[in-house]
Amino acid sequence: MKQKRFLLTESEIPTQWYNIQADMPNKPLPPLHPATRQPLGVEDLAHIFPEECCKQELNTTDSFIDIPEPVLEKYKFYRSTPLVRAYELEKALGTPAHIYFKNESVNPLGSHKINSALPQCYYAKQEGTTNVTTETGAGQWGAALSYAASVFGLEAAVYQVKISMQQKPYRSSIMRTFGATVEGSPSMSTRAGKDIITKNPTHMGSLGTAISEAVELAMTTPGCKYTLGSVLNHVAIHQSIIGLEAEKQMEKAGEYPDMVIACFGGGSNFGGIAFPFMRHNILDGKTTEFIAAEPDSCPKLTRGKFDYDFGDEAGLTPLLPMFTLGHDFKPANIHAGGLRYHGAGMIVSQLIKDGYMHGVDIPQLETFEAGVLFARTEGIIPAPESSHAIAATIREALKCKETGEEKVILFNLSGHGLIDMTAYDQYICGDLQNYKVTDEEIAKNHIGV
Ligand SMILES: *Cc1c(COP(=O)(O)O)cnc(C)c1O
Repeated sequence: MKQKRFLLTESEIPTQWYNIQADMPNKPLPPLHPATRQPLGVEDLAHIFPEECCKQELNTTDSFIDIPEPVLEKYKFYRSTPLVRAYELEKALGTPAHIYFKNESVNPLGSHKINSALPQCYYAKQEGTTNVTTETGAGQWGAALSYAASVFGLEAAVYQVKISMQQKPYRSSIMRTFGATVEGSPSMSTRAGKDIITKNPTHMGSLGTAISEAVELAMTTPGCKYTLGSVLNHVAIHQSIIGLEAEKQMEKAGEYPDMVIACFGGGSNFGGIAFPFMRHNILDGKTTEFIAAEPDSCPKLTRGKFDYDFGDEAGLTPLLPMFTLGHDFKPANIHAGGLRYHGAGMIVSQLIKDGYMHGVDIPQLETFEAGVLFARTEGIIPAPESSHAIAATIREALKCKETGEEKVILFNLSGHGLIDMTAYDQYICGDLQNYKVTDEEIAKNHIGV
């Protein structure tokens, strides 16, 4: 019988994370203070984020960083996650390609986000913090953070994008079940939220508005730290556990990927699965192709500009060097809430400039078509975000069918879609549409100050 699932024993689970910054030929440009435009140090970031996260953020020298023992212990509640050969999907496509996926949906929270929520809360607690706050789009990060906060004995306050709160009410319920306070963003509970509502009373929120509110709460509340579920370098470091495991599992399967594919919101699950393999392109001459799949309604990787921009809508965060559509870009209300972010993260942006990876844009309807095919073949209902990676994989597998190439394709299944069934219902009833963004819509937004 052909082996379908590859797992690691407890002692094979990696005990260090990978930090690609140390191996990059060109390091990411530094984040800048918005007023002085001077590079930020650990001290500048540490009044918002846990200090250890700030150190990791700016660490361009250590390729590997020890995972703290209490975090590793919590990882082992659900890791290793399975590497799966998608035989049934291959058969349905009639492709000679070998398709593998890393299943990050199999933890109690249902997405990869927990891999970074645990260390961020652990470090916050170690440093004497009592409260954490954050933003969440579709709610996966908020749910993961609420759980991790309860694990390490912290209070959590979450600003959830208003539109997502309406689309996915159960995610707010999950957060409250873990003991978190949840507020729809933009809200009237912060200066930033009030300002946004005053200017635009029907604003349905974006990750940009929710970040503004959470950062403001952290800056104005003693003992409260802000945490971020994506975009930043330290989040990509924590998520590297995905790719480090996958590397060992591919070895068990006796193959090495020609292509690694993941969906792209701020880059954390992409970086997580891709960077440990990209390391071998940088250091050992491997030629794996890396593809980040983004929605064509929020195409920062392919149509954004590389420049210094704010991470949030109100302009409270440091200026980050990244591919961006502008911090006030208002993405269409697609169901892949986790991919509705205007910017791309500093590491990934530099890697695109240096030609190590590229983006691909997928229309909403193609993602649902891919998600439904995946569900019917592999038996897992994917998150609408993850369906972008599946759609990109299917495109590549169909190219192999034409050329007869037996490429090995590895993609990351970042989460399941069991809280997104309204979206699937709408797709099945024919009520969903595409939202390709025009050049004019992109041009009217603001990058930087
Ligand atoms: C948040 C999320 C994403 C997008 O975030 P990245 O940081 O780009 O990984 C993708 N998939 C799922 C399931 C998510 O929850």
